[in-house]
Amino acid sequence: MDTIDLRSDTVSHPTAAMREAMAKAELGDDVFHDDPTVNQLEADAAAMLGKEAAVFVTSGTQGNLCALLAHCQRGESIIIGDTSHIFVNEQGGMAQIGGLIPHTAPVQADATMRLDDLEKAVNPDDEHKPVTRLVSLENTHNMAGGVPISAEYTAAVGDFARRNGLILHIDGARIFNAAAAYGVDVKALVADADSVTFCLSKGLCAPVGSVLVGGRDFIRRARRARKALGGSLRQAGVLAAAGLIALHEMTDRLIEDHQNAQLLAEGLSEVPGVRIRSQNTNFIIFSVAPDNELTLDEFVRELRQEYNILMSPYAGEAGVIRLRTHYWIDRRAIAKVVSAVRATLS
Ligand SMILES: *Cc1c(COP(=O)(O)O)cnc(C)c1O
Repeated sequence: MDTIDLRSDTVSHPTAAMREAMAKAELGDDVFHDDPTVNQLEADAAAMLGKEAAVFVTSGTQGNLCALLAHCQRGESIIIGDTSHIFVNEQGGMAQIGGLIPHTAPVQADATMRLDDLEKAVNPDDEHKPVTRLVSLENTHNMAGGVPISAEYTAAVGDFARRNGLILHIDGARIFNAAAAYGVDVKALVADADSVTFCLSKGLCAPVGSVLVGGRDFIRRARRARKALGGSLRQAGVLAAAGLIALHEMTDRLIEDHQNAQLLAEGLSEVPGVRIRSQNTNFIIFSVAPDNELTLDEFVRELRQEYNILMSPYAGEAGVIRLRTHYWIDRRAIAKVVSAVRATLS
């Protein structure tokens, strides 16, 4: 029986086309800038996001940290969402390795931070305070439940950044999901950003890797940071080959994952005992009625044992399950999940 793995879009494995491209990729030593496939990926990624240059990194975490290290000096402060991935789920690398001080602003349910909260987070020119250097957005917002943020809001934050002499970084791990949700070219969502990280490995199905894009000088500094973090790779073209397919063939189909997530949410909402908390882009968050005989852990275990369906309770909030659709979840799988959940709860 095929596994239906809804725990995350990170579980998506490479497509047959990716494996073939990986096997045939032209390679070189990327530390000498000699890998043609990596060079192609970086050039194409920069062009697609409308930036001058790009650097291939091992993960989104590494891309974000390279960005912060390249933009900021030790002892400086960055403004960041209190539920942002960089603040909550990247081991505090910015402080641990970069010596940076996070100044958090509350993230609202719509994944934005209020502009007046951002204004309040900018330190005055006062010798008691760290210098505020940068503001970071996250699109789509993971802990908000995959909520996309608009080009208009991003432009407003871009304005705020310019007025205050700040750099704008976007953690765009799922920026192509945001572009699909708004039906816009991804360039429109990052036009105001000085740098953007995005993941090739989530909904885009590549096995490994993220890309950091920005200005040419910035990317040169980011490459130095990547080296210090041990992220300079050799024949990385085997990975970049999958990344090229991710970029060119997988971005335009993300809307299918969103439609499937919507379909799944609709199906689950009709099952007695299920309450859909939210459905945005490829995310679904739901709870199971507390008067049900099963605990959440038992519910998850039964789906795994009886139906080979994988879900996991959401670490970010007690009592809820968070699902993410991806390339390997089709309509047939959705129908199976709905009937399995119905059978499990009846
Ligand atoms: C997944 C993710 C990252 C990066 O994660 P890695 O596992 O290091 O690739 C960064 N930001 C957000 C919002 C994410 O969802």
